[in-house]
Amino acid sequence: MKTLLEQAREGLITEAMKAVAKSERVSEKFIREGVAEGRIVILQRPGFSPLGIGKGLRTKVNANIGSSSDAVDEEKEIEKARVAEKYGAHTISDLSMGGNLAYLRVKILEATTVPVSSVPIYQALSECRSFEKMSLSKILKVLRRDVYQGISSIVIHPGFTLETLEKVRKRKRIMGIVSKGGSYTAMWMLTHRRENPFLEVFDEILDIAHSRDVVLSLGNTMRSGSVYDELDEPQMDELHMNTELAEKANERGVQVIIEGLGGHIPAGNIAPSVEKFNKITGQRPLYVAGPLPVDVAVGYDHIAACVGGALAAGAGADYLCYITPAEHLNLPTVEQVKEGVLACRIAAHIGDTVKYGLSEADRNIGLHRRKQDWEGQFFHALDGGEKGRQIRGETVMCKMCGRYCALKIMDQYLGG
Ligand code: SF4
Repeated sequence: MKTLLEQAREGLITEAMKAVAKSERVSEKFIREGVAEGRIVILQRPGFSPLGIGKGLRTKVNANIGSSSDAVDEEKEIEKARVAEKYGAHTISDLSMGGNLAYLRVKILEATTVPVSSVPIYQALSECRSFEKMSLSKILKVLRRDVYQGISSIVIHPGFTLETLEKVRKRKRIMGIVSKGGSYTAMWMLTHRRENPFLEVFDEILDIAHSRDVVLSLGNTMRSGSVYDELDEPQMDELHMNTELAEKANERGVQVIIEGLGGHIPAGNIAPSVEKFNKITGQRPLYVAGPLPVDVAVGYDHIAACVGGALAAGAGADYLCYITPAEHLNLPTVEQVKEGVLACRIAAHIGDTVKYGLSEADRNIGLHRRKQDWEGQFFHALDGGEKGRQIRGETVMCKMCGRYCALKIMDQYLGG
């Protein structure tokens, strides 16, 4: 079987490329060239629409859901998956580590139509229960199972070595390493006194990803966990190593997303850092978690991430991972998943207005707002007007300024 990347290189335009071109309103040639050159990836899920992520396409939003070892409510996680898709998440990551993982995965796939991704080392650790007992063959086994189960992309953390870990230790960052998958990978290396497991079997992983044309997402272990932890040598080492691995994967016909720059970054550094990362990676699809431009928004991190995500997307990030109000605090509730998705969609939309210009929806809202046509506004709202209707309630006219409504007063002069 030839992958989309291989077919694109041969000059073929597949049905998936045509579908992505149509939904993104760009030419089929643009998509084919983007895929061939590694600037665009297409996530596929049998029976459902393919999704394009990358340069020249609308910014996409990912929602992380899943149980933890200490919070298991399978039905709630399935509901979160439904809610995330309902409110516009383009992809869902199942990060479950507690309860009946096989049941949860099947149900999450049944409940959704968007591409689903996984981080196989989570499940491997959950099943083995300790780093000592978690063998490399077990990690590979879970990875293979995920790929054959219909997962659209898998996240691995191959971009660092024991030497990188030593550099982190010496730097004495405030927050050390905050990536969950990265920390499990690092602890496996330290426990087994071995180099990065994903580097060791990278060729085998490429063969598995190639067999189902699954997208490989190269994780971001070294991201900062505090705005005071600056873009340092370990982060740059990882970025360079992930770029080399992406080149190797692309040569093998495997599509790659580079995860980078997520975490906590001072606002003024976000845009220049995104530009730097895009340059180093050769404009490969860039996935960013958040980022959070401040650390003080405890309980409101989805709002801080909306600002950071908008700056990142506007500067050229292609794919944002949402942050919920529960970030750093707890497993999010269903309602917090909804809030996180909508905040991230606002960020992506702002980013797209910077990248591609203002949208028709924004113009239409203005036109309806001028006429005080509430339903007209709600129709174009990101959540379909759900929150707007809730806030308005049964009110007939807006009571903000009451009889001194600026719009009405000026209408007498400006005309309706
Ligand atoms: S009352 Fe004030 S806030 Fe409400 S529509 Fe009129 S000008 Fe706008």
